[in-house]
This record gives sequence, C-alpha cells and structure tokens, in this order.
Amino acid sequence: MTSFADLPLRADLVGRSPYGAPQLHVPVTLNVNENTHPVPDEVRADILRRVGAALDEVNRYPDREFTALREALARYLGHDLSPAQLWAANGSNEVLQQVFQAFGGPGRTLLTFPPTYSMYPNYALTTGTAVVEGRRDDDFRLSPETVVAEIERTRPDLVVLAAPNNPTGTPVGLDAVRAAYDAFEGVLVVDEAYGEFMPADAPSALTLLPGRPRLAVSRTMSKAFAFAGARLGYLAADPAFIDALRLVRLPYHLSSLTQAAALGALDHAPLMLRMVDEIRTQRDRTAAGLEALGYRVWPSWTNFLLFGGVEDPRALWQGLLDRGVLIRDLAIPGALRVSAGTAEETDLFLDAMTSLTPVGAR
Ligand SMILES: *Cc1c(COP(=O)(O)O)cnc(C)c1O
Repeated sequence: MTSFADLPLRADLVGRSPYGAPQLHVPVTLNVNENTHPVPDEVRADILRRVGAALDEVNRYPDREFTALREALARYLGHDLSPAQLWAANGSNEVLQQVFQAFGGPGRTLLTFPPTYSMYPNYALTTGTAVVEGRRDDDFRLSPETVVAEIERTRPDLVVLAAPNNPTGTPVGLDAVRAAYDAFEGVLVVDEAYGEFMPADAPSALTLLPGRPRLAVSRTMSKAFAFAGARLGYLAADPAFIDALRLVRLPYHLSSLTQAAALGALDHAPLMLRMVDEIRTQRDRTAAGLEALGYRVWPSWTNFLLFGGVEDPRALWQGLLDRGVLIRDLAIPGALRVSAGTAEETDLFLDAMTSLTPVGAR
C-alpha cells in the first residue's frame, strides 16, 4: 500500500503528522472543549427554515461577501464594530490560516507561547512561516514585561496570543496585549475562542481595536455557541486588515448553507448562550472535585480545566476511556485537560476519577 511518505511530498511536510485529537464514540466526550449541550429546539427549527430557503438558491454561488452575516456578527460583538471590520470563514482555524497566508510566509516568523493551541505552528508550517517559542511566567501566565522581552528577543512578524489560553485556561491581561502591540511592527492576533466564558466584567481585546490596524481579534461559534459542527469562525480588525484577507481567501469560501445556519444561530444568541453560566458552574464543580481528590487545578477562564499532579497521564487517560470518559492528553508533564460538560457528565467524570485515584493520594 502506498503511504504519503512515498509520494513527492513538499520537503517541509515530510515526517509531519496531521492534527489528530481522537474522535471516539464514548458516552462522555470531554476532549475538544465542545459545548456538550444540544441546540435548543426553537433555534433548530429556525435554522432548518433558513437552510431550506438557502437551498432554493443553492444552484447559485453564495454571497461572496457574506454581507448579512458580517452585519449580524458586528451586531453580536457590539463595541461599535462595523460590518467592514468583520470577517468569517469555516471555523476560526480557517480564519487564522488566512491571516498566516496574508501576513506570514517564507522569510517571516511567528512567535507563540507554548503550551498553547497546537494549530498555530501548523498554520505556520503550511504557509512556510518560521516558528519561535516564547517563555511564559510561572503558572502559564503572561505579564506585559515577559511578552515584550520575548518579542524583543525573537523579533517576530506575527504574534498569536490565545486569550484565555488553551490548554491551560489562563487569562491574558489587556495590558499584555497593549504592550505586545507596541513592541513590534507586525501583526498581533488575539484568539478569543473562549471569549464568552470569561467573567462578564473582563474586557475583551475588541476594546483595543480602535487605532490599532495591526491587531486582529478572532472568535468562534464552535465553543460557547454549541456550533462546532457548523464551522463558523470570525475575526474583527481594521477594514484594511479585512481587505488583506480577501487576497488569500478562496472565492465563495463560505457556503450559502453555512451562512444561513450561522445567521439563524446568531438571531437567537441569548438562547444559544444561555448554557454558558451552567457550563461555568460545572467547570467550577469539576475543579472542586479534582482538588478534593488531591489534584492541582489551574485557574480557568474557559470551558475546560488543566489539572496536574497526575503520576502517569497516559494511564489515567486510558483508565478514564475504559470507563467511557474521553478527555485530552496534550503531553504536558503530569497534567491532563478536561472540558466542562453537563451536570451528568461532570458526575460521571468525577466518579471515574475517584475510582482511578489511589486512596493514599487523596
Ligand atoms: C477550538 C479553538 C479554535 C478553533 O475553533 P474553530 O472550531 O476552528 O472555530 C481556535 N483557537 C483556540 C484556542 C481553540 O481552542
């Protein structure tokens, strides 16, 4: 059988493996930070109606500029954003890849702060962008001083800050974002994939957009909106930044069905987001349960937790899987990540953890 290694592959792709969080069918799936609550029935009905209407015209290419969707996203985000400042694609993964296509590339360098979202180096790889890694402060925090020192040390063209960070849940202060922006001449992306899970009074990097044309803030409907399967990510930036993304997007990249479904979901944003508080509650319950078992839990502003003090992460991951609970092993020494689920999923996870934790360790 031929494997891709036998093909005349691009030299810089040789030896690489594709993104591969396991997709296993088990009763409790808490491994990729999805919202485990279903889309409410009335929203589902509206989405179906809109997708049906879009099907009437599916013989035609979709609105290439997804105008109605950009208007809806601007309304949803607020902060006086105009539709000209909004961009969307099939997941924030595609949005971020487009940023790399436009602003990265051969001869350019990405600065990233591991442990962080594993796809950033991947967008760099596929666009021929070099990667340098910055160090964090204790407990995965990022102070303005550290960010600036790392930018000055590595002189990047592109910096991506996941705020809050995945897989650690760590918040990033706006003072660090401001300092990063001022420390170099390149593009700064703040990835707020978990923005809706931040405390209500915590300001978004969206507030920093005015007067900062090299700053972009990306968001997604995959996490808080319970819309991961629909693939809709978006970004807010200066209109000129959006124009640059038009240079690299494929024509008609956002299907009319995707646009219709996203418009339906956004029209019911409060209902779609009503589970956010409940998810935060289950996250905090999970944290308390893990701490009671003797694990260390890092503070999280997201819908997941990183917990440490795990003697053998691979064995614990497997033990949970054997009990029907899938979480994530990101090869962080002594630690695993678990997404917050429903109350029932939380019970099942904590029960499994209790049975897998030696009594002496508690
Ligand atoms: C989940 C995630 C994304 C990607 O989400 P999409 O489903 O592609 O919109 C982006 N950034 C971070 C930090 C994430 O955790």
